[in-house]
Amino acid sequence: MPEWPEMETYRKLLNERLCGQIITRVAVNRAKSVNEPEDTFRAALTGRRILFVERKGKQLILHLDDGNRLLLHLMLGGWLAYGAEGPKEDGEFQVILGFAGGENLYFGGLRLGYLHRLSAKQVLEQLKELGPDPFDPRLTPETFYGRLSARRGKLKPALTDQKLVSGIGNCYSDEICFESGIHPETPVPSLDREASDRLFASMRRVLEEAAEYGGYMDRPLTPDDKLTGGFDPRCRVYDREGEPCVRCGTKVVKGEISGRKAFYCPHCQRSG
Ligand SMILES: [Zn+2]
Repeated sequence: MPEWPEMETYRKLLNERLCGQIITRVAVNRAKSVNEPEDTFRAALTGRRILFVERKGKQLILHLDDGNRLLLHLMLGGWLAYGAEGPKEDGEFQVILGFAGGENLYFGGLRLGYLHRLSAKQVLEQLKELGPDPFDPRLTPETFYGRLSARRGKLKPALTDQKLVSGIGNCYSDEICFESGIHPETPVPSLDREASDRLFASMRRVLEEAAEYGGYMDRPLTPDDKLTGGFDPRCRVYDREGEPCVRCGTKVVKGEISGRKAFYCPHCQRSG
């Protein structure tokens, strides 16, 4: 599932391509991917200009010139492509937006994901439970510790809970735990301020590096997109079961924590 770095990469690449573009074509091949009857959705979007693209947590918000928004959540398996032609047949994409310049934005893999046309108020309402962005300047080591220490349960599910901070999922929670040297199964109440500070610093370091390298998902947005997916070979533990830990050489283990898979080094990640 795309997380903070992948969605941040999409936001950056789409802003370079979509700002000011006028939507001239709307195709919906899966009615459930949008929130209105196809005719209504098409009529409302045709002729609209995209002002800019914003990211909140794992969601993208396309701001339209009529004040409405397109709220995109890729969930599990969703991906985007952009260009004059898609990397697959048009019918294999759930939604396509075509632009006056002749290019198209293709929405693929939208099984659980969606593209909803909403008012600004509706978007605020839908996202009101989202925790702060990991890079929100109001999120400090102190406020992070305050949010974390209010929780029970294990560390990994806390990090992936969008109410704590928004944008972290299965991959980066493992990477953040590894970077901080803390076992993902550690009970949150046993983490002291020092451990919380380490997690906070690791969170920003890991996400920043991952975004710089274009995230770990390997589908390029355009054929000449060299940014997307560059972080995949840099993942230290995620999907690295049985490979030697880059720090100590112990084999990386794949476990299950609260129903989610978790990758970690059993030697250099300790509780607390
Ligand atoms: Zn290790």
